[in-house]
Amino acid sequence: MDYPAILEDIFREVRPCCARGRVATYIPELAAVPPDRFGMAVHTVDGAVYGVGECAERFSVQSISKVFTLTLAMQLADEALWQRVGREPSGNPFNSLVQLEVENGKPRNPFINAGALVVTDVILARLADAKHTVRDFVRRLCGVDDIDFDLAVAHSEQRTGHRNKAMAHFLKSFGNLDGAPEVVLDAYFHHCSLAMSCRELCTAALFLANGGVVPASGDRVLSASQAKYVNSLLLTCGTYDAVGDFAYRVGLPGKSGVGGGILAVMPKRFSVCVWSPGLDEHGNSLAGTLALELFTTKTGISIF
Ligand code: GLU
Repeated sequence: MDYPAILEDIFREVRPCCARGRVATYIPELAAVPPDRFGMAVHTVDGAVYGVGECAERFSVQSISKVFTLTLAMQLADEALWQRVGREPSGNPFNSLVQLEVENGKPRNPFINAGALVVTDVILARLADAKHTVRDFVRRLCGVDDIDFDLAVAHSEQRTGHRNKAMAHFLKSFGNLDGAPEVVLDAYFHHCSLAMSCRELCTAALFLANGGVVPASGDRVLSASQAKYVNSLLLTCGTYDAVGDFAYRVGLPGKSGVGGGILAVMPKRFSVCVWSPGLDEHGNSLAGTLALELFTTKTGISIF
């Protein structure tokens, strides 16, 4: 497979579309990101890494961090987690309060904000410093020591994230948050603010393409079954309420974030990450989704 040539083709085709998306502005700090950035990287399970465009430039991972917090929570709590969070697509915006009310405070899945707050609470209950544990976990997965929070982004969201704050208090009122809402929110906002590049995200997620084991080190992160569970959840819940359209077009499990990144996994083959800050109306990167669609079309590789 000539990945470098395929990535170059995609870069040429997709770059003009970057301007069509709209950069997220509800977190003020994200509004300042130039909309014309585009990067894409692939990391194969046999160790090759390919990239194009701004694939080494760090961006705000936002909801992509939910992949790593879920992984840690599965390590710590395993099946007990599912008493507090569901495993169904939400069919609603990622920050909706309505569904949470109707369903008595049990979030539909770990990839919407309410679900991620519960996942963060599960980590906090078991490890005192959830904030840095998640950062250090990602650093270890990548073998890169200087991955860190973007504090300007974290503080920006701390100042303006009233909906997430409402959600955390709502969860608390239903008895589905053990910790203090402020503490859970602080960890959650920091996880979302992690700054990583496409290359780093691909490397960090490669264990999901390799049955739960980091190929380079042989370290087991999750059991093979748990890796399957995470990938299944990514396919059914990872790309907001456009998850059906994403699966139809791309055919890979993936997680998007409002920073414009999308991380996707092809079991037994590779992880792939794309970044373009302009979003579509569901909050998925517009050019990023298109790039992944072209990638599975041109390679002929998807899970289907
Ligand atoms: N920090 C963002 C929020 O909580 C993450 C949203 C996202 O990327 O989906 O609103």
